Amino acid sequence: MTTVILPEFLVDGTGASARSGVAVVVEDGRIAAVVPAEHAPSGERVTRIEAPGQTLLPGLIDLHFHQFLLLVERVGGPQEQTFRRDPLIATTILKAARAAKIWLQQGVTTIRDAGAPDNMAVAMREAIADGFTMGPRVIASGALIAQTGGMRAGNEDHAMEITGADEARRVARQQLKAGVDVLKIYGASSIGGGGGRLVGPPGWPQLSVPEMRAIAEEAHKADRLCSAHAVSTVSIRNAIEAGVDWVDHADFLDDDTIQMLLDTDTPICPTQAIAWSLEHFGEDMGFGPHIATKAAEVSAIATEGLRKAYRAGVRIAAGTDADNPRASLAQECRLLTEAGMTPLEAIRAATLTNAEILRLEQQVGTIDEGKVADLLLVEGDAASDVGALQRVRDVFQGGTRLSLPLVDLSPWGYA
Ligand SMILES: [Zn+2]
Repeated sequence: MTTVILPEFLVDGTGASARSGVAVVVEDGRIAAVVPAEHAPSGERVTRIEAPGQTLLPGLIDLHFHQFLLLVERVGGPQEQTFRRDPLIATTILKAARAAKIWLQQGVTTIRDAGAPDNMAVAMREAIADGFTMGPRVIASGALIAQTGGMRAGNEDHAMEITGADEARRVARQQLKAGVDVLKIYGASSIGGGGGRLVGPPGWPQLSVPEMRAIAEEAHKADRLCSAHAVSTVSIRNAIEAGVDWVDHADFLDDDTIQMLLDTDTPICPTQAIAWSLEHFGEDMGFGPHIATKAAEVSAIATEGLRKAYRAGVRIAAGTDADNPRASLAQECRLLTEAGMTPLEAIRAATLTNAEILRLEQQVGTIDEGKVADLLLVEGDAASDVGALQRVRDVFQGGTRLSLPLVDLSPWGYA
């Protein structure tokens, strides 16, 4: 069974300019060849998909997604400052399965789950890989490894709280045994201030360097990865010093910290989409107006820091931290261009860069012969208009064309 996709434009994920007049040949779930359109195979056993006016891209990779936090019911719900917990674990799991479908239908074919209760992201990784439920390929984190009392009230089920390097090591080893791919360190409070009562400045430093270093060491000994949630400048520096593979959020960057990122070749995953969505739709989602104000303040600072980091040559990844469908990876890519990246660079962040960070670049992240045929077609020329990523027309997972939509997203402004 051969499928030939004939897009108007092809953006391969490497950052190279778009190509026209090419065909992508898919066989047995993989990209068999990229050939001039006139040489594309045809015949009875070939399915030809003509996509005039559309761009073909590698399936997107979200380096920071929480399947277990995409709580779409919060729209129009009560006032909350934290995530509403479902009374039944089964509800939580079914919602996570739906969250996975929502991201998949938006062209995200790989996610790094950035922290989930117990080892549920590991279970989701296996359920999706085994075909029990549809969703992107999952690279799983375990519960966030946080300091005692560090997790925001109401979110404690997402964390394992520790004091001291020995406890950090014990929890890291337990998670590795359970099959976690990326140990997720909670190196700072949340933007809201964190701690039980949202006290303290945004993202104040929490775990110590020795505590974080113990976790990073355990991950690396087991040939696994380790990332840290870090917001304030000191917490970002602590995470780099501890030896994490990348820094999540990295909102408050100064020149010295940018230099540290460069010296250690540590990437950052800015996650601006979540703050953008809270700023613009926070009240619709049931938050008080102070949340939108805080999101706008932090966003302005974070965007400025990101702009400087980008200009300095820091490796930039793409992740959403989404807790709602509006904070999509397409939106994140648009926000990356607002911080100075070109559309092709933003797409590279969401494809090849993320694949490299997750060490998946031999399998996914570009349109190349031999890679898994995780692909998407969007309306328009994505190389000149990054907004095209929000107009997904087709998603292919391992060469299979999905029948969209998987989930009705009209309540969130999607056609
Ligand atoms: Zn997160």
